[in-house]
Amino acid sequence: MFLVISAIFPYTTPMPKTTPKQKKVVEKVSKKTKGKHISVIGTGYVGLVSGACLAEIGHHVICVDRNKDKVEKLKKGISPIYEPGIEELIARNLKIKRLEFTTDLPDAVKRTEVVFIAVNTPPRPDGKADLSHVANAARQIAEVAEDYKVVVDKSTVPVQTGEKVLETLRSYNPHGIEFDVVSNPEFLREGSAVQDFLHPDRVVIGSENERAEKIMREIYAPIKAPFIATDINSAELIKHASNSFLATKISFANALAAICELTNANVEEVTYGMGLDKRIGPAFLKAGAGYGGSCFPKDVSAFVKIADEINYDFGILKAVEKINEDAKASFIKKIESALWIVKGKTIAVWGLSFKPNTDDMRSAPAVTVINHLRDEGAIIKAYDPQATEKAKQVLGEENISYEKSALDATKNADALVIVTDWEEFKKADLEKVHKSLHQPLVIDGRNMFDPKEMKEKGFNYISVGRTKK
Ligand code: NAD
Repeated sequence: MFLVISAIFPYTTPMPKTTPKQKKVVEKVSKKTKGKHISVIGTGYVGLVSGACLAEIGHHVICVDRNKDKVEKLKKGISPIYEPGIEELIARNLKIKRLEFTTDLPDAVKRTEVVFIAVNTPPRPDGKADLSHVANAARQIAEVAEDYKVVVDKSTVPVQTGEKVLETLRSYNPHGIEFDVVSNPEFLREGSAVQDFLHPDRVVIGSENERAEKIMREIYAPIKAPFIATDINSAELIKHASNSFLATKISFANALAAICELTNANVEEVTYGMGLDKRIGPAFLKAGAGYGGSCFPKDVSAFVKIADEINYDFGILKAVEKINEDAKASFIKKIESALWIVKGKTIAVWGLSFKPNTDDMRSAPAVTVINHLRDEGAIIKAYDPQATEKAKQVLGEENISYEKSALDATKNADALVIVTDWEEFKKADLEKVHKSLHQPLVIDGRNMFDPKEMKEKGFNYISVGRTKK
């Protein structure tokens, strides 16, 4: 529907209400795509956004989750995650009955031809991807499927998982029906997920036959992006390779930051100078307190393990992981040495989510930093524009208070520590911050401010890769 319109007027949030004219476009596109009947197993960051966007482009989508509270909220149009634009999309598609939410997986599978698996693939303690949720979902689909299904793996999985999914589908189906398995990795970024799904850089489809590929082409027809049709193993590898490469760029910038600190150079200048080279590009070349989130740490470590298992020593990725750990440790060291004694100090922390514009706390560097400082006896006053509720579940209430504003967090604090670069912090009234802090010490893990300006404003300002030795 909106696909055609949005190609002309790119998505902005909040999105406007659907007009009668837009509804006509929806129906036109829906006809063109034949409005496929799709179920999505797993309604998390990826499943919810994919489901809502697939409905938005004209399909009939049933989103399934085993978490009853989540499903109840979604039925009322309330998103369990903070993601710009998602609630408008849910409301619109619930209203026109192209989107449903349920806990009833068998019913959803029976009513749909294409079943997306978008369940979580968390890291196991040994760093490998835990595929038990993918395996469960495949088995549940197999047990209830009564006719041909295309089973699309959208979760991030190790290469050759598709083969295992197909085996599972075949061995647990009592009717001997036909299945096609497709790998369709997702590249959306939390914080701009709706926009990313509807306007991706590419759509990757790994399949083993033309029948499945044709169905996938029809599903994605309204999305204007290069369509990469490949075999399943290659598609699975594209996802791990892409995330690992992006993490490599970040770690490269962090290694440069360490070198800059040892040579009195400025990492911001160095990465700017590099990024202007079109072969390199500026994206993901930002030094800071390390990457986190639900994807990079787990996907890099899973890729290292995948390589280990086939006797390939992926040394570069092992270094990427080490540099990331070093970046977090070096940031903590900066805080400790600036404070001299941490015990008994009150520390304001700006930013808890792993990156701005999301409330996702999975593998957030803020957790490592805050836990370390609390272990050393500090009291934390934390503020995040969106992640407070999720942060409470991860960090608890001991020796930490969750403040209502960035300024509140700084009141009488011995230092301000910046962990996540929310836009809101850039606009902070620094004079007020200066007055509010007990001492004007700012340790910035995201290089949000200009060191010279901060000095002029009277701050003792410490950042990453720009501090003189
Ligand atoms: P998530 O934890 O937010 O959501 C997973 C959901 O699946 C949960 O709500 C869970 O209750 C549900 N679930 C698990 N097993 C189920 C089952 N058998 N039946 C019904 N529901 C079930 O995870 P996510 O962040 O959406 O990630 C999903 C996958 O997508 C992962 O493999 C991840 O690596 C990948 N991915 C994530 C992102 C991202 O930015 N979050 C981006 C690209 C790819």
